[in-house]
Amino acid sequence: MQLDAEEESSGQPSVWPDTYEIMRCPEKSCNLGPHCWRDPVSKKHYKLRTCHLRSLVEHVEQGHGLQTQEDVPEYIRQQLYAEDQQRIERRQKPTSAANFPPITITNVLPPQPHQAPLGSLIVGAPAVDPASTSVPVNRPDIPGLRDVVVKNYSYWQQSNVDDEALKVEFQKACDMTLADGLDLEQIHEDQDPDYFIKNGIKRGIARRFVGDIEQWAKRHKRGETED
Ligand SMILES: [Zn+2]
Repeated sequence: MQLDAEEESSGQPSVWPDTYEIMRCPEKSCNLGPHCWRDPVSKKHYKLRTCHLRSLVEHVEQGHGLQTQEDVPEYIRQQLYAEDQQRIERRQKPTSAANFPPITITNVLPPQPHQAPLGSLIVGAPAVDPASTSVPVNRPDIPGLRDVVVKNYSYWQQSNVDDEALKVEFQKACDMTLADGLDLEQIHEDQDPDYFIKNGIKRGIARRFVGDIEQWAKRHKRGETED
């Protein structure tokens, strides 16, 4: 009785503990956990970080069922696949960079990732012309496949409104972005809500969709490094 009253007053049913319980990795030998999603096909374990668990909770709060790991929605699966793929690629990069003989490094090479060993770049003095690096400093760093990221961002925006009509507006903005081949970094760079408004998106939604990207990216990143 006491518990019911508390839940009612806070408006927060026990979604968090239930979700954590369902996503707890059942295998003692697994060193990724404590929380994993196990791919039903490949049986591979994907470590769930706080940001993934938060997305799952939001999914449940939107009224979707989550009884077993089978109920993990497709967009979260895609996000896990994409991040895993990126992790693999990141791991491979230093090896391929090391294959370049250090002496031949000139400004002919594409800009090196920040993690590249500094020593190799210093050889031959001003190897990197700052003007040639095309990535603006304030561009939000969003890991994942660009189109999947747009969808995840749209789901997050939708999870922040209750009204179905508003959710639909965010979905339209998402579809429009993808149809035009745009990604979140570009939308953020342009800061142009008029693009969406001209295409029939409601003004407030357009401003949100353009303006919240950095905040979301930071949140997303924080969740990634929380544990
Ligand atoms: Zn596991």
